[in-house]
Amino acid sequence: MDKDIRKLIDSAKKRSLAAAAPDKQTILSLLEIGQGTEEMGYLLDAAEEVAQIVTSKKAYLWGAIGINYAKCSMNCGFCSFGEKWGIVQDEFSLSEEEILEEAAEYVNAGVYYIVLRTTEFYDLEKLSRIAERIREEVSGTYELILNVGEFDLQMANRLYRCGVDGIYHAIRLREGIDTGFEPDDRRKTLEAIKKSPLKLIHLVEPLGPEHTNEEIADRFLESIQYGVFISGVMVRVPVKGTPLGESEKLDAQRAAHIVAVLRLTGGYTIPNICIHPMSAQAVKAGANVVVTERGAIPRDAKPSKQAWHKVTPQLGRQLLEQEGYQVYPEVPKGPGSEREACGEECTGANLDRFVQPAILSLLLDECLTAYQIHGRLTDYSMYRDRPPDMAGVYRYTKSLKDRGLLEQKQSSKNRTMYSITPEGRRFLRSWISTLESYRDSIGLLLKEMGGF
Ligand code: SF4
Repeated sequence: MDKDIRKLIDSAKKRSLAAAAPDKQTILSLLEIGQGTEEMGYLLDAAEEVAQIVTSKKAYLWGAIGINYAKCSMNCGFCSFGEKWGIVQDEFSLSEEEILEEAAEYVNAGVYYIVLRTTEFYDLEKLSRIAERIREEVSGTYELILNVGEFDLQMANRLYRCGVDGIYHAIRLREGIDTGFEPDDRRKTLEAIKKSPLKLIHLVEPLGPEHTNEEIADRFLESIQYGVFISGVMVRVPVKGTPLGESEKLDAQRAAHIVAVLRLTGGYTIPNICIHPMSAQAVKAGANVVVTERGAIPRDAKPSKQAWHKVTPQLGRQLLEQEGYQVYPEVPKGPGSEREACGEECTGANLDRFVQPAILSLLLDECLTAYQIHGRLTDYSMYRDRPPDMAGVYRYTKSLKDRGLLEQKQSSKNRTMYSITPEGRRFLRSWISTLESYRDSIGLLLKEMGGF
């Protein structure tokens, strides 16, 4: 192995573990290491070691919700939303209830970073109200992140007060060339984030094979000046019909190489490194944050109702765990464990405030969304003072569906509606007879205790 490169890697590791800021020349030299060489193996091993030390083997899932599928006049050359490309036809925005449901679903799947993504000019006043509602109605362990247009310090502080933890914002590679922005306009937003209590997430993106080492290093180093909390790599996915739709895609090895350089030189300065789209090679090279997304997606011509490219939170968790990471938080314990306690036919071993039979009974005569179910439950006298939380209702609804007791369909307004199945009706009858038997037993018990 080349002794100078070995020395360079060792010194970069030592510096980054002492929280020293990366320097450009080191980054450039590391980015020049050839694929398949002994030096590359040494770099990947060193990056993996730094990742283990810096992260304490803790990893996170990033779940993006594209909340509006709309034409955007900024016309970035890699984005399907550019109005000039004519790809977006039937525009739509998710309703507040749908956003709440999606957020709750991610929280239930153990996603830590819940990311609301919009096109450039989405109304931030509206979004701040949605953020407040998510904070009030979706309980669990998560951080709320926005990926939106430009804003000033006043708005940054307001978003923080509404419960937003961080912002995804980036000066993209070839900003102002491949995009319709003045890079300085993006910098103003980064300044506002830096001066506010919000965290900054800024990846090197959208990365293609044409980008030089110099460009990569500059984007990474500038994000450090703005106090980046999560860095990493987002590989450009060419979308047919956009100006960059026929461009080549960066190969996974090169993406992993760049991740390794960011991890090795970022050290304690940048605790988290993300890769998107997800790749085992990049996780091995030091990425500890992986992305799942749904809804409106700038790297696809069509919105995705399910996880984009079937990359689910479960798949991300599996990948991170295979590399020895502990994914934070653990998946919240749901009704699956209750089912084990009860068996297929619930005998009342764990009544859990009767949420499941209450949901089934609400759906006897009508179809409802999970959000509507939550609202109706608060009409039940036993939940009036302490209603079940939205995330819990969502979890139970999904579990009942997974067990074949509920059916799911999309309404004309693209909302997820639930209805009871014949099996669900049978199950509810069994619940009612269990509850009646409880009521009789409790009545007898109280009578016998009456003289106490
Ligand atoms: S990347 Fe953002 S700003 Fe650019 S066209 Fe797409 S939505 Fe608009």
